[in-house]
Amino acid sequence: MSRFLSNRYSNIEPYTPGEQPKVYNLIKLNTNESPFPPSPKVIEALNKAETEKLNLYSDPDTKDVIDAIASTLNVKSENIIMGNGSDEILAFTFQAFCDSENQPCFADITYGFYKVFCELYGLSPEIIPLREDLSIAPEDYYNKGKSIFIANPNAPTGLALSLSQIEDIINHNKNSIILVDEAYVDFGAESAISLINKYDNLIVSRTFSKSRNLAGARLGFAVANAEIIADLAKMKFSFNPYNINRLSIIAGKEAILDTEYFEKCVSVIIKNREYTVNELKKRGFTTIDSKTNFIFTKLSSISGADYYKALREKNILVRHFGNERIKDYVRITIGSLEQMQALIDATDEILKGV
Ligand code: PMP
Repeated sequence: MSRFLSNRYSNIEPYTPGEQPKVYNLIKLNTNESPFPPSPKVIEALNKAETEKLNLYSDPDTKDVIDAIASTLNVKSENIIMGNGSDEILAFTFQAFCDSENQPCFADITYGFYKVFCELYGLSPEIIPLREDLSIAPEDYYNKGKSIFIANPNAPTGLALSLSQIEDIINHNKNSIILVDEAYVDFGAESAISLINKYDNLIVSRTFSKSRNLAGARLGFAVANAEIIADLAKMKFSFNPYNINRLSIIAGKEAILDTEYFEKCVSVIIKNREYTVNELKKRGFTTIDSKTNFIFTKLSSISGADYYKALREKNILVRHFGNERIKDYVRITIGSLEQMQALIDATDEILKGV
């Protein structure tokens, strides 16, 4: 730390992203990316002619990608704003809607970035423990008088609330912002987007990083009523008006319009998830019911940390969290079938020595 850093930030513990190793012989199942390339239509559209336009700024209104999302998800363009990843949507939301009178609240085990945004913006969140089985109890979110952040499905557990449970929480908090983080929703959970015209306090955040195979393009978006979108736009235009680069706008448009490729990729991931859960079950693992492109799993005969390390030695990278409540688990991203077979083979070798 230099002697110039503002005192405001001296104690921030930044978000630690999953390792992005430089070596390519690793099987990378640690950051919930897609194992598949972007849609062929994306690759075709990112051509020389578009690259040659990089001397020009991108469209600050990101109209092309917003219109494509609107037509695909059946909402109006005025209900959408783009973020540089959904992380930026989260940042704008904490910034716009949380302060000393409107503190945020979220689960003890959820996406780790929520806590970091609170530190960044000087907020004091209320932390709501998950139930013993690591599920969210909707009753714990009734009448909070606070801004509510819920990842649905949750990460790293993979568990999802139903749409009626989400609506129940909204109904019990009509005067507070509720952000439903749907980063993983396409892998089997119900979206709350259909509720945005019914509730003026709901924000749904989405990402292109998982089911749209574009983590490296950094594209996310929020869906909400037009006034909320205008508030989020105020944050964006006060910070970085050109937050989405030219090529990512094109990539996002093509990716969201290629429904066929999207559905194919998602269905393969769901199949590979079922394969992996079954194979691990045969070996005694307990896996939480996942509605995402990752699983959260544990085995009583090996600690989460040891299993993580043993896989790492076999060039397979998964994620382990040190937090006391979940330290027995590892989080495994669902990759291609070959990758998952390699994970199972490596697990068999590891278990021989346990
Ligand atoms: N929400 C959740 C629950 C996540 O796990 C992630 C991915 N790390 C994000 C949001 C942010 O994803 P991105 O910024 O790539 O859209």
